[in-house]
Amino acid sequence: MTDANAKTKKAVERIPRKADDLSEWYTQVCLQAQLADYAPVRGCIVLRPYGYAIWERICAEFDRRFKATGHHNAYFPLFIPESLLMREAEHVEGFAPEVAWVTQGGGETLRERLALRPTSEVIIGTMYAKWIQSHRDLPILINQWANVVRWEKATRPFLRTLEFLWQEGHTAHATREEAAEEVQRMLGVYREVAEDVLALAVIAGRKSESEKFAGAEATYAIEALMPDGKALQAGTSHELGQNFARAYDITFTDADEQRKHVWTTSWGVSWRILGGVIMAHGDDNGLVLPPAIAPHQAVVVPIFRKGVEEVAAAARALQAELAGVCRVQLDDRIEQSAAWKFNEWELRGVPVRVEIGPRDLEEDVVTLVRRDTLAKERVARAHVVERMQVLLREIQDDLLARSKVDRDTRTMRVGEREAFVAALQAQRGYVLAPWCERAECERDVKAATGAVTRVLAQPAEQGAVCAYCGCPARVDAYFARSY
Ligand SMILES: [Zn+2]
Repeated sequence: MTDANAKTKKAVERIPRKADDLSEWYTQVCLQAQLADYAPVRGCIVLRPYGYAIWERICAEFDRRFKATGHHNAYFPLFIPESLLMREAEHVEGFAPEVAWVTQGGGETLRERLALRPTSEVIIGTMYAKWIQSHRDLPILINQWANVVRWEKATRPFLRTLEFLWQEGHTAHATREEAAEEVQRMLGVYREVAEDVLALAVIAGRKSESEKFAGAEATYAIEALMPDGKALQAGTSHELGQNFARAYDITFTDADEQRKHVWTTSWGVSWRILGGVIMAHGDDNGLVLPPAIAPHQAVVVPIFRKGVEEVAAAARALQAELAGVCRVQLDDRIEQSAAWKFNEWELRGVPVRVEIGPRDLEEDVVTLVRRDTLAKERVARAHVVERMQVLLREIQDDLLARSKVDRDTRTMRVGEREAFVAALQAQRGYVLAPWCERAECERDVKAATGAVTRVLAQPAEQGAVCAYCGCPARVDAYFARSY
């Protein structure tokens, strides 16, 4: 065994069992699978090439859908002058504790501090005020792929970092109805990517008043359930009403010649959703990637016992053929054993391993091993390409099916206080209960159990009372602890 080999072998073994220590398991998978590394800056990570390749695929899936729904990409500055930021009071108050400021530039103290964008409603709204004159300029549908900065105290790779990558959509409309439709459309896009691409079964709905975005009239979100029973907010879509239009003077002349304020929306997804994928699908052997976002969907590992040349040639031919239907890597390194390679590709979450050795050659078969279940099957050489296509689809679908079962079995519906508190204290997952929508009640629930509302599902049944305080219930709400 070479030194590097010994080092990595040990590294793989250092990953604790997922059920024993989820937090340490998560961190080790991020590091050992080479998705990310800690940077020499507190709270920041380096997105390594393998992690970046996954992120690029996630971005491409979102981006394609944004464009298909009429949006265009643009880019706005990282710096926001303080005076500009101060104009929407609620927004400022919400973000103030997390804003990082530039006070010096080129050795001089700045006359006005510049915020590093925590989000871009302010700077984009200011530009919209300039660009929008008439109802004919509406709607304006822009998305930005960018980094943002939020000065967080505790940080974790992808889930919470000082600087992170995301997309933020910002739109302006002539009517409230159009803006509301846009918010639901983009929430739908988020849900579709989460489920169809990332295989994460989510819940979607409106946020409570205390959980909504600072400056929004209403916030809608998708949330994914993590193995420790905590919910991960994975995407948000906001109805901003005319709040930002008034603060930044975004007006237009309508068809009736009246000057009116526009209705704006914003919506965002960050690399946090990748953290959700890692945590939800991974197992004791490491990462499990849905085929749709795996940089390598399959890896061909030749088993060199005898007839090395022959096996190597067969593996190359197999890779070339599979390349027609999937993203496939050939691992023909001779310095590593096959078993070592199996461990490494499992750790890195490649959906299908293709083994080919001397015995397979004799029998004209190959062995396929799926990463999600570790199930093996021997397939006639002539049918490998066809089987690979089906298998990748099966893995993608099965991951989502398992995620749905997991979400549903860990959602408890309760109606009265004792069961409600006990269910939240057990921290198994979502607790769905009739709720009064009072901020004070939500604070009390949080103090008693650590949980808050995640999304509000549907209106409560006629005559239902709040599971916690007994006041008349207005909605059925999902409660859980959260990341
Ligand atoms: Zn209540």
